[in-house]
Amino acid sequence: MTCRELVEFLLDYLEEALPGAQREEFEHHLQACPPCLAYLETYKRTVQLGKTVCAEPEGPIPDDVPERLVQAILASRRKSV
Ligand SMILES: [Zn+2]
Repeated sequence: MTCRELVEFLLDYLEEALPGAQREEFEHHLQACPPCLAYLETYKRTVQLGKTVCAEPEGPIPDDVPERLVQAILASRRKSV
């Protein structure tokens, strides 16, 4: 699995929608690739923040979250509704 594929499967992985073989590849890649692991952690944290932001529409988004990532998550949430 490449880093690019990992990013594509990230959402499925977090929703536990990945088939077993792909999930294994995903986790294997994470163990071998610190940047992807860091990306996953940031992503998970941002999803949490996204929920907080939706609960409090007036709430500020912390400065250390990349705006691009927030927009990507909000866009994917809109699609899945
Ligand atoms: Zn990687």
